[in-house]
Amino acid sequence: MTTQEIFKNLGLAQEQSGGCLSSTTWTHTTNAGVVGSHSPSTGKLLARVYGCSEADYDTLVAGSRQVYASWQMVPAPKRGEIVRLIGQALREKKDALGTLVSLEVGKIKAEGDGEVQEMIDMADFAVGLSRMLYGQTMHSERARHRMYEQWHPLGVVGVITAFNFPVAVWAWNAFIAAVVGNTVLWKPSPKAPLCALAVQHLCNRVLEDAGYPGVFALFTTDRVEMAEHMVRDERLPLISFTGSVPVGRHVAEVVGHRLGRSLLELSGNNAVIVDETADLELATQAILFGAVGTAGQRCTSTRRLIVQESQYAKLMPQLLAAYARVTIGDPLQPGVLMGPLIDADAVAHYRRALEEIKREGGEVLCGGRVLPRPGHFVEPTIVRVQNHWNVVQRETFAPILYVMTYQTLDEAIRMQNAVPQGLSSSLFTMHLRHSEEFLSAVGSDCGIANINIGTSGAEIGGAFGGEKATGGGREAGSDAWKAYMRRQTTTINWGTELPLAQGVTFGRAEGGNDGARS
Ligand code: NAD
Repeated sequence: MTTQEIFKNLGLAQEQSGGCLSSTTWTHTTNAGVVGSHSPSTGKLLARVYGCSEADYDTLVAGSRQVYASWQMVPAPKRGEIVRLIGQALREKKDALGTLVSLEVGKIKAEGDGEVQEMIDMADFAVGLSRMLYGQTMHSERARHRMYEQWHPLGVVGVITAFNFPVAVWAWNAFIAAVVGNTVLWKPSPKAPLCALAVQHLCNRVLEDAGYPGVFALFTTDRVEMAEHMVRDERLPLISFTGSVPVGRHVAEVVGHRLGRSLLELSGNNAVIVDETADLELATQAILFGAVGTAGQRCTSTRRLIVQESQYAKLMPQLLAAYARVTIGDPLQPGVLMGPLIDADAVAHYRRALEEIKREGGEVLCGGRVLPRPGHFVEPTIVRVQNHWNVVQRETFAPILYVMTYQTLDEAIRMQNAVPQGLSSSLFTMHLRHSEEFLSAVGSDCGIANINIGTSGAEIGGAFGGEKATGGGREAGSDAWKAYMRRQTTTINWGTELPLAQGVTFGRAEGGNDGARS
């Protein structure tokens, strides 16, 4: 499929406006900047998208609020039915959309398609969820009283996404937010505006055909002050933010200051531990996918490998041989395992990290070069380092794997936890006690802890997210839906008396107020 054919298939015009409330209501501003979409494989411009103005932003928020007023009253299973239709439309466009993801952010086609599959899985999950938004009932301490909690939507949910999952992360948020009754305003990464336009167009057409235009709105800009405007906006009760720690920290401060809610999915610094009993074949495959997949540009990418001393001499030759077989190139070509980094800045970060490692005394075991060809291609790299080095403590969004050794499992777990981030972790072992210790309260401190599975490639059924500097948010499966709703505790008195909680009597002869909860 040529680029033009993909665009046509997905309903994209060559010069597209960056704000939409429905598939027919697009903003027409042409003087608020242009967001250029470049292919990371060639560095060439793919298309240009007109950015939104402040006035466009206000129109989008006002429209989303208006739609929310009626959408929140649509029964949840009916909302689910519409998300089911969106899932169907995504199935039909999976190939074209997966190709667009590859083209715009450089993932290999299998991973581009995988991202669209993740959206479809999320749609299916959200459909089921629309009939399972359960609240609890409690036994009241007062006679003839009924007590329960119920969940209501929040309003217009703001979703800000990173470049590296340009469609799936929006779906994690948007499909759940929508089935529970919210409307959604999305600010995508300026590095992936085409994916956002295509997805929005597709979903909004389904919503419109079903009679519910405007549940999803898109706000495209590459201006930081416009993103800030969104984060400060008190009309958005929740900002779900996916991105780096420094930006996420700032978002949390601004939203916290206005006492709004933020849901943060920030950087990881994920480790695989390989113990003395590990199946090295499994471990090698998992480390390769974790460290090299998506060119090391996943929040869950494997960045650190912590190997038991006795396994080092056996594991490393296998791993180096696997690295030597990695084909680097055009992500749309069959057989290619690693595409480019997203842009020249990412390549500069890769270079700088390697210079710093060498200054610290690290040993490059393989890779380490920027490839002399158009686009932003680098070699997957393995380096021997020490865990406490600054460079190892931060996330470099590139395919650099840091290797170190340990003697006891306690030491390995201490090393794995001794970084600021806490997203994903994994242990390769055949030892029951090691596995249980790793998963216990004194084990991994991450939001995700796997046994004999790598750090990346989570299923949507579980709640996804991490601790510490990763931000504490949870998205996708399990009960992550609660983040998009407000909880209301309700007590109904169906009797003829007005007993007070805690047995307090008030305004009657027999007693005074002895500390009732207000
Ligand atoms: P980034 O922090 O540079 O940008 C993320 C988003 O924030 C973009 O849409 C950007 O335009 C926006 N933004 C920038 N400045 C802003 C501001 N002042 N206020 C509000 N929004 C602002 O991240 P990136 O380079 O696009 O993505 C890579 C990072 O995202 C990595 O750190 C990765 O680990 C993280 N990530 C985390 C998860 C997760 O689920 N934990 C998933 C994907 C990516």
